[in-house]
Amino acid sequence: MPAIISDAPALLIATNNSGKVRELTGLLQSLPLRLRSLSEFPHLAEVAETGATFAENATLKARSYCAQTGLWALADDSGLEVDALGGAPGVFSARYAGAEATDEMRRARLLTELAQTDDSVRRARFVCALALARPETLTAPEIFSGVCAGRITLRARGRHGFGYDPLFVPDGYEQTFGELADEIKQNISHRARALAAAKDYLRNQLGLQA
Ligand code: IMP
Repeated sequence: MPAIISDAPALLIATNNSGKVRELTGLLQSLPLRLRSLSEFPHLAEVAETGATFAENATLKARSYCAQTGLWALADDSGLEVDALGGAPGVFSARYAGAEATDEMRRARLLTELAQTDDSVRRARFVCALALARPETLTAPEIFSGVCAGRITLRARGRHGFGYDPLFVPDGYEQTFGELADEIKQNISHRARALAAAKDYLRNQLGLQA
């Protein structure tokens, strides 16, 4: 746990997804930053995710939350690409079963879509784009990307993580992210990989050694 440095720069974790907040906060613990959350700013305007790519959506969110708060803002846009579905649900991962759906409903839709797809060809990957906007770089946020390849199971397994985790087995493992310990996901996930690059950049900005 780093020392709390009162004049450390503030970084807004610019997502309302509690699973992402938990993972990003855990991964950023080692840096001397004051992490802020969107729950501290209840009156911010929501950002429409109208981009065609993860990077575009992450950029829209980071720029808007940075402009609205004046803080460095780190936004995450991520999702699941399934080969047998032509890359769907992709940027629509959160909206795959409608705007009000739960994670369970999204997983049920995915299993239905893949009902005719043999176990051997259920290749998929999680993709994450992180955008870091600072007031002085608002028009051109830094983008960091990460991918985690694996496959989709025949049924949901495990209670760890969030979203599609109980359906996703990362390459090199037999268990889903729902079954694997949180520490393993924090080492190999799409989000962890994107954040490793973001941390290098932040260390540099903060004048810290890599
Ligand atoms: P968005 O980035 O807010 O558009 O939402 C991304 C959606 O993709 C989430 O609601 C999840 O359904 C899914 N997703 C993104 N990252 C993960 C992950 O690490 N595990 C499981 N599902 C994820």
